[in-house]
Amino acid sequence: MAAITTVSESKELKNLNLIAAHSHIRGLGVEPDTLTPKATSQGLVGQQRARKAAAVIMQMVKEGKIAGRAILIAGPPSTGKTAIAMGMSKSLGEDVPFTMLASSEIFSLEMSKTEALEQAFRKSIGVRIKEESEVIEGEVVEIQIDRSVTGGNKQGKLTIKTTDMETIYDMGTKMIDSMTKEKVLAGDIISIDKASGRITKLGRSYTRSRDYDAVGADTKFVNCPEGELQVRREIVHTVSLHEIDVINSRTQGFLALFSGDTGEIRSEVRQQIDTKVEEWREEGKAEIVPGVLFIDEVHMLDIECFSFINRALEDNLAPIVIMASNRGHTRIRGTQYRSPHGLPLDFLDRVVIVSTHPYSPAEIREIVSIRAQEEEIDMSPDALALLTKIGQETGLRYASNLITTSHLLSAKRRAKEVGVQDVERSFSLFFDPARSVKFVAEYEKRLIGEEGGVTLGVTN
Ligand code: ATP
Repeated sequence: MAAITTVSESKELKNLNLIAAHSHIRGLGVEPDTLTPKATSQGLVGQQRARKAAAVIMQMVKEGKIAGRAILIAGPPSTGKTAIAMGMSKSLGEDVPFTMLASSEIFSLEMSKTEALEQAFRKSIGVRIKEESEVIEGEVVEIQIDRSVTGGNKQGKLTIKTTDMETIYDMGTKMIDSMTKEKVLAGDIISIDKASGRITKLGRSYTRSRDYDAVGADTKFVNCPEGELQVRREIVHTVSLHEIDVINSRTQGFLALFSGDTGEIRSEVRQQIDTKVEEWREEGKAEIVPGVLFIDEVHMLDIECFSFINRALEDNLAPIVIMASNRGHTRIRGTQYRSPHGLPLDFLDRVVIVSTHPYSPAEIREIVSIRAQEEEIDMSPDALALLTKIGQETGLRYASNLITTSHLLSAKRRAKEVGVQDVERSFSLFFDPARSVKFVAEYEKRLIGEEGGVTLGVTN
């Protein structure tokens, strides 16, 4: 179990990537208390209603209040649907799983579509496993208080003599609440918060509920016999259900986790895992952490996938499913029917929809400038104004791409910052989709057609 990557570690690995399309996004940029989005914060600009909705959903996920719900982010291309999903992922706790899946991926994997979806679902459910370890037992010598420290709390030092009488555990300097000089007595309960190092004497029992709340999730305390203290620290790690499946799948073995080549997992294995996890949960050894599964370009899924998701959402162990689509009325893949966003109507019924809208020029300017900062590129105000105009007319993604190419051109002429001429030059070197379409229309006769030969037909 120790060798596999935990959810937070795999999140860290993902963060190692180079400057990518969404690397400027650090969160949803909302006020923590009111969940009100700031105009520009944590790399996200505008789109306040969608961000607020996303923040509310994330809050509910964090509180463990919802699971098995589906949310659709719908809006025109390049209006930040994926960006908002990234913001959501960043705002989740370290060990809450977030899985991203492009719908087209599931048609190219070497496994059935439903198996690929099942794996994506199970990657999005975390199991927080608690292991008790590092028991420090010993005679408490004393708690020393350093009164010179200001700020209400006094600093103290706890020294524990171990039972072998040779080692003295120096717990370092800790914060001790309103105690002067005290010895631990039989029946005392002391909380040491691992994160802050704060020591609180909770009294002699858990009868005061306020005190009970103060016990951190990762600390557990036992009543001490006279003058002796026993501190048990709990080590908690979170792995996904999918990882447990793979480790226990005899044909695969956990090495498959590193290669990503996990193949299909038998349903009996999954059932056994579910039963085991349920047992751990009942024994208090594990907690289920429903995470988030983000499915991009959801209109690319077909009717079988939708029916799978519909059923999977009913499961006890279901994550929150967030989908994104930039389609209006479109055909549902695998059928002759058309429907909003390409989602079957019965499925659409159970989905909460969040919409994104096109950006104002000021917002485009802000996003382009954030992207330039992210790539550490200096830009003249004129160049920024031109890129904003290009962004308005051709889309944010194209304008973003021109930042990099313009920078290469400016570096070539040894300029300190990107100027208008660099943007103009890039614009003429690299086509945006609209110009490319025009080009195709003009030169259709000379381009190679679908059948492999030169297209001879007349364009319409
Ligand atoms: P599509 O429908 O084509 O998939 P999308 O709505 O998912 O588009 P994104 O990929 O999120 O669009 O946005 C395009 C680019 O613009 C990305 O680099 C994204 O990070 C950036 N971007 C979009 N909206 C915002 C925003 N509100 N704040 C900051 N950056 C944004």
